[in-house]
Amino acid sequence: MADPLATVAGLAAQLAARAISSVEATRAALDRIAALDHSLNSFVTVDGDGALAAAGAADDARAKGEAGPLAGIPIAHKDVLMTAGLPTTCGSRMLANFVAPYDAHVVGRLKRAGTVLVGKTNMDEFAMGSSNENSHFGPVRNPWNPALVPGGSSGGSAAAVAARLVPAATGTDTGGSIRQPASYTGITGLKPTYGRCSRYGLVAFASSLDTPGVFARTAEDCALLLAAMAGRDARDSTSMDRPVDDYAGALAKPADDPARPLAGLRVGLPAEFLGEGVDAEVARAVEAAIAELRRLGATTVPVALPRIGLCVPVYYVIAPAEASSNLSRFDGVRYGHRAAEYRDLADMYRRSRAEGFGPEVKRRILVGTYVLSHGYYDAYYLKAQQVRRLVADDFRAAFAQCDVIAGPTAPTAAFPIGAQADDPVQMYLNDIFTIPANLAGIPAVSIPCGFTGDGRPIGLQLHGPAFAEARLLAVAHRFQQATDWHERAPAL
Ligand code: GLN
Repeated sequence: MADPLATVAGLAAQLAARAISSVEATRAALDRIAALDHSLNSFVTVDGDGALAAAGAADDARAKGEAGPLAGIPIAHKDVLMTAGLPTTCGSRMLANFVAPYDAHVVGRLKRAGTVLVGKTNMDEFAMGSSNENSHFGPVRNPWNPALVPGGSSGGSAAAVAARLVPAATGTDTGGSIRQPASYTGITGLKPTYGRCSRYGLVAFASSLDTPGVFARTAEDCALLLAAMAGRDARDSTSMDRPVDDYAGALAKPADDPARPLAGLRVGLPAEFLGEGVDAEVARAVEAAIAELRRLGATTVPVALPRIGLCVPVYYVIAPAEASSNLSRFDGVRYGHRAAEYRDLADMYRRSRAEGFGPEVKRRILVGTYVLSHGYYDAYYLKAQQVRRLVADDFRAAFAQCDVIAGPTAPTAAFPIGAQADDPVQMYLNDIFTIPANLAGIPAVSIPCGFTGDGRPIGLQLHGPAFAEARLLAVAHRFQQATDWHERAPAL
């Protein structure tokens, strides 16, 4: 019996066996969105007609023998990625009426692979946030408990995948926006190496940190999507000209010793990741997951990441600095909302930006403008760049002793909507374990590894050296073959 709620790999097998058509799978996704999303608010735009047309085309391609592994799979894109002909709002009033004139590189790649775009997902405004409460289109709710945040900023994509509305969705991760919501919603989220996927068509927040990536229920599904998304794009000068690894092949490789499939793997454990400030239930679940990695044959080694404590302050200098520059284009002339009434040109800029941006975006623009201003640039921005290099050096030294680094994705599980809304610094601290990978440019994945006593998902984070996505996904896959945390579904 065909299951339209299957994983990407499961659905791909059903499609290949003609047990289900893409039109049927897409209709099932659209029906589920219609039935459930009014309470989750994970979608900003649903494109039913476009999705069914793309699904029909995928079925036709399959009939002609021209379908690849992702052909006909319904997916969603975070609303920060440009999608030709569809709104791309970035969760902002500023872009509430903006229709993208072209596809982001990763969107185009996934389209060419035959995926079916069902809609665009809600997000914190301009990807600034850790709870998805900063969207112009209202907060997203966590499918495990509607009183909780789903994490952010890619909370819509995470909630949509966790609620089984779509089997996979894209996200972007500047300081944790894929991994933290993946952990809060009990799914798998991969932030690739900076430069592995092109940023072309990703509306820029902090260009030196922004990384397109993917949400799915399993590492295997993330591998399938990453294979389609990764690769050099001449339109993004930071996208790397380097062959894309065979991710699915790395996962499928049989273990030499099936009882100990992770034999030979060295897992680095930084004391900084399991110390003070980590919720006791999160620490317990992560320690149990590390014990499971050992049971699967891995050895663990202590490593040091002494600058972890500096990462949040460094990030909150660099990211707002870049944001203040990137967001200057939203002036009501070149891009974005324009005030209906104004006295003169300066007043038009002022009113358009005052009306178009929400409070968190304004806060970041103010901070960014300040740290870049003459007289403060050296003390803040330059210093932050120097510490950023030291963080990357720490990871390089740690990876001389281990193959992956493990720890929690976030210090706590999902918190109630509103609980941190008035305390930006508390909110920023949710990203303490995710920001380091962005500063260093390295890949990291969050995988489900347990629940709190009151049923909130917990994520295990694995970091790898630059371009070690295949290794990370293979370790995550072995863990998922031995555990069933990723199979737990919220009751909806
Ligand atoms: N929560 C972080 C911030 O608000 C990270 C956001 C992101 O990764 N896009 O900046």
